[in-house]
Amino acid sequence: MTIHKGCGVSGLSVTDGAISGVQLGDGSNVRSEMSCDILLVGIGVLPEIALAEAAGLDAGNGILTDYHYQTNDADIYAIGDNVLAEGRGDVRIESIHNAQYGAHYIAARFTDSALPQEEAPWFWSDQYDRKLQSAGLVPAPSEDVVQISRTGRKEGSLSVWSYHRGVLRSVESINDPQAYIIGKGCLEKGLSPAMDDIANPAFELKSLR
Ligand SMILES: Cc1cc2nc3c(=O)[nH]c(=O)nc-3n(C[C@H](O)[C@H](O)[C@H](O)COP(=O)(O)OP(=O)(O)OC[C@H]3O[C@@H](n4cnc5c(N)ncnc54)[C@H](O)[C@@H]3O)c2cc1C
Repeated sequence: MTIHKGCGVSGLSVTDGAISGVQLGDGSNVRSEMSCDILLVGIGVLPEIALAEAAGLDAGNGILTDYHYQTNDADIYAIGDNVLAEGRGDVRIESIHNAQYGAHYIAARFTDSALPQEEAPWFWSDQYDRKLQSAGLVPAPSEDVVQISRTGRKEGSLSVWSYHRGVLRSVESINDPQAYIIGKGCLEKGLSPAMDDIANPAFELKSLR
């Protein structure tokens, strides 16, 4: 594998309607071209915090806020992908639910309305015939982490249950909404189902409801 550093993508080459190459350059000059079969694009990994810093807000890997999304400036709140909210997972959460939840939360506080119900962070995406869903925050791999794959009832369905020191931290699923919903419920209730049960395909997830 070769990692090309210090260069950007100037353009893409298309052959017969499909991406066939990537032109590398500095935006105005093409320096080289490499052919490819598949193009994988990674977007939004780094937060843009220049505006926040110019406004005097504390920021690092995101704009720092307290649990209520208030920044160090009492008149400025921050929500969404760019925010590292204290006590809300200690990572920036990049999902539509998180952005919408933050908006509901501060709107409710501003208007003295009931706060939205707390939920485990969740994410979904439809990729062709696959429905990807996840709840909770997937722990970084370590010797304290155990991940259990569980085949679902429908053909091709699967869920992965991640435990950190025996505590359930996340459930990810492919075409397995039942595992996602029940796993999310467990996370929100603070339940950690026995790993042997989860690993057993005959175990009825419904019994965890
Ligand atoms: C390719 C892709 C696929 C994704 N798929 C999913 C998915 O399937 N499910 C899911 O849950 N999440 C998905 N996400 C993540 C989801 O889109 C984000 O978590 C969500 O949009 C974050 O909302 P936000 O309001 O924080 O930021 P954004 O939606 O990015 O909104 C920020 C807005 O601020 C504007 N802006 C930026 N700078 C300035 C400025 N200086 N002045 C004025 N306006 C400015 C931008 O133009 C933009 O409109 C995906 C993201 C990407 C990139």
